[in-house]
Amino acid sequence: MTSRYPHPFSGGQRQRIGIARGPALEPDALICDEPVSALDVSVQAQVINLRADLRRRLGVGVVFIAHDLSVVRHLADRVAVMYLGRVAEVGGTASIYDEPANPYTQALLSAVPSPDRAARGRRVRTGEPPSPIDPPTGCRFNPRCWLAQDICRHDAPPLREIGDHGPRSACHFAEEALRSP
Ligand code: SF4
Repeated sequence: MTSRYPHPFSGGQRQRIGIARGPALEPDALICDEPVSALDVSVQAQVINLRADLRRRLGVGVVFIAHDLSVVRHLADRVAVMYLGRVAEVGGTASIYDEPANPYTQALLSAVPSPDRAARGRRVRTGEPPSPIDPPTGCRFNPRCWLAQDICRHDAPPLREIGDHGPRSACHFAEEALRSP
């Protein structure tokens, strides 16, 4: 048996070693924080498929933290969208991607090239994102939200269910957001 330090391994090899180490402890859940962000696309696909295979075979829950929306859609059964440390919307993957009920989710999805979502993207106000150490009062998305009203600047919206089986959205005007083109 040979011993090697981590630095001779490539990024993809280190990711695969990390995946192999996690299940060895027989956990109930795995938390994967940006596991593919630094990898090229072909290695990303290998790592994603390996992780999905492990999830199926071991039956463990996987919390996957990522910024790449196409990767999340490919992997996740449920999605929680976060903005400045708070959950903006949570629900099944299909409902979050196909019928988002929160303006921030709509803004995020509009960044993914798609003719269906171009209109939503144009409605996001431009400007620098607020500082996470001094977030806006009320709804943290209010300085950039096209649906913002006075209540949004004072009252943080609770996470609530939209419709009978829809997602849960932290937005005072989630129904309006859902209906917006
Ligand atoms: S609560 Fe108000 S500011 Fe926040 S996402 Fe909803 S409409 Fe926009």
